[in-house]
Amino acid sequence: MKLKILITAGDGIGPEVTNEAVAVLKEVAAIGGHDFTFTEKRIGGVAIVKDGTPLPADTLEAALASDAVLLGAVGGNEFNSMPPDKRPEGGLLQLRSALGGYANLRPCFSFKELTVNSPLRPEIIEGTDIMFVRELLGGAYFGKPREWNKAENRAYNTMVYTRDEVARVARIAFQLAQKRRKKLCSVDKANVLEVSQLWRAAVVEVGAEFPDVELEHQYIDAMAMHIMNRPRDFDVVVTENLFGDILTDESGVITGSLGLLPSATIGGKVNLYEPVHGSAPDIAGKSLANPLGAILTAALILRHSGGLEAEASAVEASVRKVLEQGFRTADLARGNTRDFTVLNTQQMGAKVCETVKTMLVNA
Ligand code: NAD
Repeated sequence: MKLKILITAGDGIGPEVTNEAVAVLKEVAAIGGHDFTFTEKRIGGVAIVKDGTPLPADTLEAALASDAVLLGAVGGNEFNSMPPDKRPEGGLLQLRSALGGYANLRPCFSFKELTVNSPLRPEIIEGTDIMFVRELLGGAYFGKPREWNKAENRAYNTMVYTRDEVARVARIAFQLAQKRRKKLCSVDKANVLEVSQLWRAAVVEVGAEFPDVELEHQYIDAMAMHIMNRPRDFDVVVTENLFGDILTDESGVITGSLGLLPSATIGGKVNLYEPVHGSAPDIAGKSLANPLGAILTAALILRHSGGLEAEASAVEASVRKVLEQGFRTADLARGNTRDFTVLNTQQMGAKVCETVKTMLVNA
């Protein structure tokens, strides 16, 4: 398997966690004889300082010439007073829109060993394994007209979808469900919103192509409760941009730490992979960052850009194993050094690498 991967490590803890993710990818490539090439380019604050723009032209060019882009994180307090499009986050938004991915995949899972880190009760969250598919390019975030008319003290946005925009993201969700537990839940507000009625009709229409997948519909308000009360009942969940933004963050509490959450954005010219967390300036450069979210993001590259399901599963199983063995980064240990071995960023990365190697060599 050949993969050209662009690394845009970015700011703060971005480079620290990305290094560990790349090390895992290199280990997988070495064991399986895969040809992964890595190119590094600047994005975000580091690019503003060196190149005068958060997304330099050569970064964008390299991204478009890659099979996958792995992003660390962008942002820093020193850039907070700049206008939005000139800030580090502006570079990421430009990159996302140039790559054109419309399906944002956010896995939500519970690690048995970490249930104590979640505010929800262990018997509710244990065994949770949901794949959220959030539509990323449509809905109220992009719809026009939009305006805050200050003279009239009136503001409005437009939540708009076409049938085709819904159908393409629904198709990705059905395909993912086929490879998992064959259940898809579509979330909308069809009892009130016309745009949701179109959403539901398009999902049902696409569903006819996937008779092996069981389709259910939930209203967003009810779903916000179901996710907290019975998260194990859901397999793949597909929803529009705004509802997905809220539901995926809400579900993050099931996993219990921001440092553990991966994401992938697929369907466009080039897939973009990024851990969910930001640049964490408060802990940057101290080797305190949890690299597991970035490493689980690398697993998504293996699965969705490399088609390497066994290798992706081995990386995920290795993360689970390391946690089972009592290894924790500081954010996960929360000061409990009696029950856990607390590792820094590099030690945790090395521990996962070593476990991946053992798992794949003995497979
Ligand atoms: P953040 O995710 O960077 O940090 C929130 C809290 O979680 C902090 O206390 C941080 O130390 C902790 N944390 C985050 N990731 C961690 C990890 N891997 N290991 C251990 N602890 C971790 O969010 P924030 O503080 O709101 O934002 C900081 C900067 O990051 C801002 O400039 C923001 O705009 C940017 N940001 C970027 C992205 C991105 O690049 N995709 C996403 C969110 C925020």
